[in-house]
Amino acid sequence: MKQRQQHELQIAIDGPAGAGKSTVAKLVAQRLNLFYVDTGAMYRAIAYKVLKNGISLDNQLNVEEIAETTEVVLDHSTIQTVWCDGEDITQAIRNPEISRAVSVVAAYAGVRRRLVELQRLEAARGGVVMDGRDIGTHVLPEADVKVFLTASLEERAKRRWVELINSGKETSLDEVLQDMQQRDRQDTEREVSPLEPAPDAVILDTTGLSVEVIVAKILALA
Ligand code: C5P
Repeated sequence: MKQRQQHELQIAIDGPAGAGKSTVAKLVAQRLNLFYVDTGAMYRAIAYKVLKNGISLDNQLNVEEIAETTEVVLDHSTIQTVWCDGEDITQAIRNPEISRAVSVVAAYAGVRRRLVELQRLEAARGGVVMDGRDIGTHVLPEADVKVFLTASLEERAKRRWVELINSGKETSLDEVLQDMQQRDRQDTEREVSPLEPAPDAVILDTTGLSVEVIVAKILALA
């Protein structure tokens, strides 16, 4: 892997939903003074726009056109707010409805092409901690540090359920677990850039580990 100065360090954090990627990535970015880029939020923004416009998820061409024409902005001046065509969608994209639609949208090659382009532009601004599914394998193959975070399905579902309940969304643990299992399947089985660890990624199973311990392990790698 290429060695860079700290201000242009690239850290790729991949893994399935609920593995703790965003919590950990934000903290690592803060500690190292790097940008944090949540690529899942970008795919969610496209899913949001597709649903908002009443476009069928099965209509690949229309969905790809939405990806081409939608302005997705991650505002780094705050912890991170997400904007879609001038609308703040930071909260809206966390709805279970979007979580169910996003993996369909993310499987389309045209959607990925456009968002990967935006993600690489984000990385060109300076050092980044980027989290997603294909960062180490595809978006930033030359990243200095690649981590693949994972945890048992039960633990991941429980973490996500607690997050949803705490943010006032009504849902059952079983429903969250079923949705997550389905999303994992769609993300690992798709043809374009499926979810898989890069050959040179460090695999960290976060089951039973505290956030601080995981952050410390990643900082040690960086
Ligand atoms: O990270 P998050 O769970 O918010 O991601 C939502 C979805 O976006 C994932 O389930 C996946 O379908 C898609 N995604 C992707 N590639 C990325 C990031 C997210 O396909 N780099």
